[in-house]
Amino acid sequence: MVNVAIDGPAGAGKSTIAKAASKALGYIYVDTGALYRTVALAAVRAEVINDTERIIALLDSLQVELQYVDGVQAVLLNGEDVSAYIRTPEISMGASKVSAIPAVRAFLLDLQRDIAKKNNVIMDGRDIATVVLPQAEVKIFLFASPECRAERRYKELLEKGESVMYEDVLADVNQRDYQDSHREIAPLKPSKESVLLDTSELDLKASIQAVIDIIKEKTA
Ligand code: C5P
Repeated sequence: MVNVAIDGPAGAGKSTIAKAASKALGYIYVDTGALYRTVALAAVRAEVINDTERIIALLDSLQVELQYVDGVQAVLLNGEDVSAYIRTPEISMGASKVSAIPAVRAFLLDLQRDIAKKNNVIMDGRDIATVVLPQAEVKIFLFASPECRAERRYKELLEKGESVMYEDVLADVNQRDYQDSHREIAPLKPSKESVLLDTSELDLKASIQAVIDIIKEKTA
């Protein structure tokens, strides 16, 4: 099986680019952020998002699964498709919080590795090349400036009808970057073998092509 790891900060375009590249190559696209978001959703619903011990205790009662229908990923929480509830700013921040808890990362590890063992995948996240799939044939670290990422996220949220301010989105991006790159466990950083791809000056089409080219070159 070919495993492609794409890591990078929030809003670098990872999911859109990885999704399109997966489609072009016939791979399964695995969005691992959705898993952390789902744990965050469960913690918010249980009103324990600010209590690490209770989040850890909650894990025993959680069943998180990924499903693919026509290449589209759905994430199930105890059998319920929660894909529509995990993209709010509250859950983004919650995901960043729960993802710093080692027990949460351990809880989600086998699920991610199992999918990669059985399928050709492009898996996107923060620690895919460094921790989840260190043996991946292709490792890409995708990034863009914080302002550029905030601008993209801001437009996305507006299109979804959420009322947000650009300054708040930028502050969120900076805070999540800080949290994700300064945590003790699995901090966001490129692996030694990762190909660095800066998308600040690339449009979507060029970014997708760049990723496809890297994958083709590494797997030729
Ligand atoms: O990629 P996305 O924005 O959906 O990720 C949500 C949060 O989940 C990130 O801010 C990060 O803290 C966490 N995450 C992680 N490891 C991954 C994927 C996401 O820690 N592999």
